[in-house]
Amino acid sequence: MDLRAALEKEDPQVYSALCGEEKRQLEGMELVASENYVSPAVLAALGSIFTNKYSEGYPGKRYYGGQKYTDIIESLAIERVIKLFPGAKTANVQPHSGCPANEGVYHAVLEPGDTVLGMDLSHGGHLSHGHPVTKMAKLFRFVRYKMKDIETGEIDYDELREVALEEKPKIILAGFSAYSRELDYKKFREIADEVGALAMMDMAHIAGLIAGKQLQNPFEFGFDIVTSTTHKTLRGPRGGIILTNSEELGGKINKTIFPGLQGGPHMNNIAAKAVAFGEADTPEFQMYAQQVIKNAKAMENEFAKNNVRMIAGGTDNHLLLIDAVSSWDATGGEVETALDKVHMTLNKNAIADDPRSPFDPSGIRLGTPAMTTRGFTEKEFTQVAQWIIAVAKNHADDAKLAEIAEEVKTLTARFPVPGM
Ligand SMILES: *Cc1c(COP(=O)(O)O)cnc(C)c1O
Repeated sequence: MDLRAALEKEDPQVYSALCGEEKRQLEGMELVASENYVSPAVLAALGSIFTNKYSEGYPGKRYYGGQKYTDIIESLAIERVIKLFPGAKTANVQPHSGCPANEGVYHAVLEPGDTVLGMDLSHGGHLSHGHPVTKMAKLFRFVRYKMKDIETGEIDYDELREVALEEKPKIILAGFSAYSRELDYKKFREIADEVGALAMMDMAHIAGLIAGKQLQNPFEFGFDIVTSTTHKTLRGPRGGIILTNSEELGGKINKTIFPGLQGGPHMNNIAAKAVAFGEADTPEFQMYAQQVIKNAKAMENEFAKNNVRMIAGGTDNHLLLIDAVSSWDATGGEVETALDKVHMTLNKNAIADDPRSPFDPSGIRLGTPAMTTRGFTEKEFTQVAQWIIAVAKNHADDAKLAEIAEEVKTLTARFPVPGM
């Protein structure tokens, strides 16, 4: 049966928005560091009849009948993700997304009032690492570490250790959504051991680069818990996962996710996760992950040549954070808006200890995962960096922006979107 034709016939309004979004995704250049394009196989699993089934519980221990095939799907997802991240012993593939995965871990291993030591949010940490606006920050205490040197991006491990000794956290949390350097997992583990804390990594942004063997795997340094989204560099459906290195922790986490926090798992989503984990366990995916980093390096080179100020001085992963105010005398918001006009999508972003408001911060964040999936290599990304510089410098010149917009559209349209 033709699913598209069915949608068009039954609901022209939704169908028309879908067509508009397809055109936007095809013509636009997606540079948001957390986005990607899934494969046709992942889309097929997501849009499948697995969405019809309730499967509260876990494989082999469900609350309703009819679980022969859902058990196969969830077991496959678990086996595959454990294989993808060597050192993981248990996996929960049910969290609806990255924030619920982190929330699940906090509830599983902390008591109200317990302390978590995580990365400062303006230095790259994530909302779900205890930002004051989150409900988690009302229940648990979050204390912070930062970069020692914004020019190199090195984390201040001395400060991290001092704060850990003083605050006695139950979890030391590594991981970020706006940080471009590799982490020293060994140091995290040593400090966690010294204070008796669990070492946890939130690899949401870089899971695909770890799975693709281009970045280090925290389990190889003895980390206890690793959480992730599945839709960023890992290139799966929107969703979350929690991996641990022990049956005991895994058991606590399973009870916390269901029945503690969630009801029925979204089995269509878990089917799509299984497909994506299978895809990530291939030589092709390793080449993809390698190209993601090569492409980020190509942009780094071009920005460096043009005296653009990059936070942490450059990148080891898929993303770059740029100080727009000192580079171009334009705010992050102004650059984001001007880039939107030329069909290049990225986000304004706070930079470390940003003096400006989060609604119009000093920086922009951009990444290579999505356009690498569409086939961009170093050549295209060098051009992308040149366009970004031109747009930022001419952000108020609409005639110039219109010119660049045509060039962007012409290039991007040559690179198909998978599944479209
Ligand atoms: C994106 C991200 C999340 C949250 O993921 P959602 O799926 O949006 O809930 C959590 N942690 C980090 C580090 C992230 O980058």
